[in-house]
Amino acid sequence: MKILIKNIKELVQIEQSPGGLKRGRSMGILATLKDAWLSIENDLITGFGEMKYFPGISDWTNLEVIDATGKMVFPCWCDSHTHLVYAGSRELEFVDRINGLSYEEIAGRGGGILNSAKQLQAATEEELIQSALNRLNEIKCFGTGAVEIKSGYGLTIASELKMLRVIKKLKEISPLTIQATFLGAHAIPPEYKGQKEKYISIITNEMLPAIAEEKLADFCDVFCEKNYFSKDDTIKILEVAAKYGIKGKIHAEQLSHSGGIEAGVQCGAISVDHLEFASENDIELLKNSNTIPTILPGAQFFLGLQIPPARKMIDAGLPLAISSDYNPGSCPSGNMNFMISLACINYKITPEEAINAATINSAFAMGLGNSHGSICVGKKANIFITKEVSSYGFLPYSFSNNLVERVILNGEIPGRI
Ligand SMILES: [Zn+2]
Repeated sequence: MKILIKNIKELVQIEQSPGGLKRGRSMGILATLKDAWLSIENDLITGFGEMKYFPGISDWTNLEVIDATGKMVFPCWCDSHTHLVYAGSRELEFVDRINGLSYEEIAGRGGGILNSAKQLQAATEEELIQSALNRLNEIKCFGTGAVEIKSGYGLTIASELKMLRVIKKLKEISPLTIQATFLGAHAIPPEYKGQKEKYISIITNEMLPAIAEEKLADFCDVFCEKNYFSKDDTIKILEVAAKYGIKGKIHAEQLSHSGGIEAGVQCGAISVDHLEFASENDIELLKNSNTIPTILPGAQFFLGLQIPPARKMIDAGLPLAISSDYNPGSCPSGNMNFMISLACINYKITPEEAINAATINSAFAMGLGNSHGSICVGKKANIFITKEVSSYGFLPYSFSNNLVERVILNGEIPGRI
């Protein structure tokens, strides 16, 4: 299968050869090409350039030509932080919060993550696969082509393995590129209340070896937070994960300052995510590390949390990634277009910075930077074509509208949206 897209108004996020993360000032630069063409063969991008230098077509067999006059082409969004395998929903807690309860108070009453865990433990693998496939289809329609999915609603060895096997199955059957993260340390199950150390030893001595044995996880995550897992717990868990060759990713500084960034930098985590309570010292620590700060503007918006110092991080020369945190409790949406709008509106991030954060930087934040996140010859043909738009800045500006018209994943068109 070959695809040629011609008359592209603007081809966004191009790279002549695979580059690295965009950091600091370079996040403000978005390479594009106006009046362009793009060619795809099988699942890879094979070429692009300006229409006036179009080399012509020598072989028309199996070639679909798409005319993108007035439309733009982007690399698909990369969403490096989600919990989109789950059972049930939590809109009752949503109402509790409207009525004045905090996220922590709801968790204290058995709601929150433990509520999702109860529902997940009762669901079959088939039910979880079906509901997750619906969500994957939904985010694909918003332009997402690669996504990280975490376990963490299992909290028993059997249920955590069930979740990770579901994610493994999704990797096989979904057209999206999927990375799996083990998040056994998401909450302390009620049966281990007051015995956190015992649960941590189950994570390190039973869950991680079993997961490594079945090769079920690309990353290991910890919810480093007051009443959940401390900085020392986080380091302990990630050090064991590292022994199995599994890199860390951390829920850090979301509801309070808990030392998650420090733990992440110390353990060489690929990313530290959330960051509402990140300090000046954390920014300094990140400067001397390869750990990618990742913001989740949807969860911050939904929970009404304070704004993370995202602007300061870019100004300090750091790379920044944006993800959705798609989950039933604190962000029941995986719409990356909306996440980008929120980052621009609430965090004073420019459209160029936000697009870099949601493509190439978020690809690196889930270990896919060399194959995803930009329009580059040899990279995965995961792209979307917009509706007719005036500029790329129109996407974040036109918040909550879906301007994605057509998505091509692995060089195949999954159908018009
Ligand atoms: Zn999360």
